[in-house]
Amino acid sequence: MNKSFLWYVVVIFALFVFTMMTLFKFNNTYNMLTKNTQLSAWSLTQMEVETIELDHQIDVYLLDQTASKKPLNLKFDVLWSRYKTFLTSDEMAAVRNQYDSNATVHQAFAILKKHEKAVVEGDRIGIGKLKNDLAQILPKIRNLMIVNFTGQQSIEHRQIIQDTRIQIYCDMAFIFVVLTYLTIRHYKYNTYQQKMAWDDALTELKNRNYLFQLIKRFKKSQTPSTLVLFDINGFKDLNDTFGYPFGDRVLRTVSQALGELCTTPNMYCARVGGDEFAILIVKNQVNTKAMIKELEIELTKVLMTIDPTKKTSLSFGVASSHAMEDAYQYVKRSANLFNNADLALNIAKRQPTLHPSIVFYSQRIELEHRKKRQLTSELAKLIENKRQDELYMCFQPIIARHAPKLGCEALLRWNHPTYGFIDPQYIIQIAEEAGVAKRLGHWIMQQVYLALTQEWAEFSHRIEVSINLSDSLFDEDLPQVLSKIFASKDNYLESIVLEITETMTLDEMERSSAIIRKLEQLNIRMSLDDFGTGWSSLYNLNHLHFTKLKIDKSFVCDINSKQNQEYFVSAIVTLSHQLGIKVVAEGIEQLSQLNKLMELGVDEYQGYYFSKPITKQKFAKFCVQYFDVNSVSEIHHLH
Ligand code: C2E
Ligand code: MG
Ligand code: MG
Repeated sequence: MNKSFLWYVVVIFALFVFTMMTLFKFNNTYNMLTKNTQLSAWSLTQMEVETIELDHQIDVYLLDQTASKKPLNLKFDVLWSRYKTFLTSDEMAAVRNQYDSNATVHQAFAILKKHEKAVVEGDRIGIGKLKNDLAQILPKIRNLMIVNFTGQQSIEHRQIIQDTRIQIYCDMAFIFVVLTYLTIRHYKYNTYQQKMAWDDALTELKNRNYLFQLIKRFKKSQTPSTLVLFDINGFKDLNDTFGYPFGDRVLRTVSQALGELCTTPNMYCARVGGDEFAILIVKNQVNTKAMIKELEIELTKVLMTIDPTKKTSLSFGVASSHAMEDAYQYVKRSANLFNNADLALNIAKRQPTLHPSIVFYSQRIELEHRKKRQLTSELAKLIENKRQDELYMCFQPIIARHAPKLGCEALLRWNHPTYGFIDPQYIIQIAEEAGVAKRLGHWIMQQVYLALTQEWAEFSHRIEVSINLSDSLFDEDLPQVLSKIFASKDNYLESIVLEITETMTLDEMERSSAIIRKLEQLNIRMSLDDFGTGWSSLYNLNHLHFTKLKIDKSFVCDINSKQNQEYFVSAIVTLSHQLGIKVVAEGIEQLSQLNKLMELGVDEYQGYYFSKPITKQKFAKFCVQYFDVNSVSEIHHLH
């Protein structure tokens, strides 16, 4: 329970107690006054009435000589007990003490006592005297009544009532003030909470929650709406290079520009993630696509003014709740606007060459997404299933010029019953995204181990298998995982080569070199795959220790026609050999390419010219023939 809530409870409780006390006080005063007034009024009235009735009965008795004394006696007795009760009972104590009533009633009671005998005997003379005496006392008794309602005490009572009323007004005013204070406090707190819940503290734009509320509201009212999500590519680098305060400034600048661009009431903008923003356009009459393109141009301009590196850019993903048709694009009606726009944004981000970088959520994307979801869930099951034959490994021979060993590259294959062969790079991508890439990597290693120990058992120590590593496999656990799979019985660690690409090593150079050092200690060799396609190939070569380097097939295909490619390969071969690194060329399809690469000093060759990737059984047959021939120039006869 937080402090402020506790405080709130205490105040409410105190207010409740205070209100109860006020009511209690009021009740007491009311009871006291009404009881007193009612009682005194009633008893004094009764006394006067009964005195008058006795007087009247005396008249009747005196005027009619034949009248019975009984009624008179009765009235006399009634009045007697009235006076007596008044003078002696506890209930009358309060009334007795007022307006000298005790003395007056004593006097009246004395008159009754004085003439009691005459009344009992019916003595008309005595009774006549009683009448005279009563005539004396009656005005005094009546006066008691009058002063009861108009006398000092009643004035005092009225004063008490007046005071109590003022007191209650004051109390009510106090309660009102406290309640008003609490209400204002509560309102402010709520407004603050709402602001915190719906506003983005850094940019002062609305936040993701607010956007979700809006989307929900417009969906409910079936208002046509288009959601544009965009984010800043390269923002992380900007943050890392120039620090977080600078990153914040970039975000604020973009937000401000966004706010200024979204001025019409049918446009809502929000910051929905670190560097991700949203514009929700509702009931839009004008051409939304043109409008989004305009937004892209304006926001990119703003981004360029603040980014000193000029390396950042914006990617846009758009989804619409209604069909948006034109000559080029069909945007399917989207049930889940945010997810769809996010999906479109992810696709835009994955296409760095797209310009302008805007992707509209479409039917094609939806089908693609569905397919991806299906493949992702099936992949996870296939890895666990030992009896499936959809997912398997192929092996493509790698011919070494001088070494007596035969190499091969393990390549993943998925022959899907509906979609046919799935691109292995796509399989790796979905495995990475679904978090099963590590399990898939272990499965691949197991398959290699099984092939080495079973189908290829007789050649196993003359075979060298290259295994491609996916991003999540390349971590500190890798040496241990490899030892467990390849060296739990006989040691096959020397029969494998790990292929990594430079995008994997680039991100964290220190970490990568530490992992590679550990692998070296286990005598595991590393190969740098797709060399020449990245930006910092030479940097990698200089800083990380590789046994082999694989020149990408894009350099091989034109090696005879483009002199540049030849120079490049030649330079790489020279440099690598000086560094003690062997060079492998992949993608060799023709003899002329092979000859040129041999001429340039490349050490190992891989490509369709020798063999396409083949199953482990076929590779076993390839081994038989290879170890028979054992000469590069004759190997092409094998296929
Ligand atoms: P990569 O590691 O560069 O593999 C070489 C690719 O070139 C293979 O494509 C191979 O079939 C293809 N190739 C070999 N020789 C020739 C040729 O003469 N001409 C042509 N046009 N292509 C040739 P594949 O099997 O489709 O694999 C594509 C990529 O998918 C691989 O590139 C690798 O990055 C990834 N991949 C494949 N299998 C695995 C795997 O088991 N694990 C991981 N992490 N990645 C894999
Ligand atoms: Mg490879
Ligand atoms: Mg490659």
